[in-house]
Amino acid sequence: MHYEYALVILSASEGSHTVRIEKTAMNESKTTDFGFQNVPWEEKQKKVAEVFHSVADQYDLMNDLMSLGIHRLWKKYAIQLSGVRAGQTVLDLAGGTGDLTQKFSRLVGEKGKVVLADINESMLKNGRGRLLDNGIFENVEFTLANAESLPFADNTFDCISIAFGLRNVTDKSAALRSMYRCLKPGGRLLVLEFSKLIFSELAPLYDLYSFTVLPALGEWIANDAESYRYLAESIRMHPDQDTLKYMMELAEFEDVEYHNLTGGVVALHRGFKY
Ligand code: SAM
Repeated sequence: MHYEYALVILSASEGSHTVRIEKTAMNESKTTDFGFQNVPWEEKQKKVAEVFHSVADQYDLMNDLMSLGIHRLWKKYAIQLSGVRAGQTVLDLAGGTGDLTQKFSRLVGEKGKVVLADINESMLKNGRGRLLDNGIFENVEFTLANAESLPFADNTFDCISIAFGLRNVTDKSAALRSMYRCLKPGGRLLVLEFSKLIFSELAPLYDLYSFTVLPALGEWIANDAESYRYLAESIRMHPDQDTLKYMMELAEFEDVEYHNLTGGVVALHRGFKY
């Protein structure tokens, strides 16, 4: 019998890491999380695709309602920390309906370029339509791509952002390595993602909001409670701030740091390739 061994990072904090070594018989199928469910590894991508096909048309409205518009401030902060300048080349990965692409497009100007890449055709179609409606097309390209195996040459981008996307990726470590490969030396990665509350006394309130209000809002606006239940569950399953920092370091990013936003509801991680 042949076995495959995988190192699973359970948690990380300054100077200490808890890992589990997973041993899988080569003929056994691997599993992963899809929200709170445990599903075969190959199935997660299909299930995530169903979620985003379903929510694509109401995505922007739901973002504003769910976050009371605060997602705009989180994204604005990510842009501030990006250091992107005129003439640069940026990848907005898992870019969806293009919030960050719009902002990067203005920053890089006519000599620069922004690639909005997403694995989901419905999200990409809505993003392209929205940007065209806003007159943003000259320095933007749209690409259907999986974060785990990016279809770009080594050392292509000055900056890569992935906002609220990494949580949905099956093999996050492969995705981080792929992003590292596509960054130019001196380039930086920004990961904006839901994270772990720093005020644990607020957890019951946050749980009530996530598991009761969100699915109800999803049912009301998008006729889809299930997808918003997945959203709440996937947030709880995502690596916390220190664990994600460690995962970025394992993918060779340097000077990795993170900033908690809205008390850790969201964290912005930034790392460099030198
Ligand atoms: N970045 C946008 C924003 O902040 O509004 C959209 C975020 S949306 C919550 C997550 C996006 O990640 C979806 O458009 C989804 O299709 C995309 N996504 C999920 N898995 C992906 C993968 N493996 N590769 C690329 N994109 C992926």
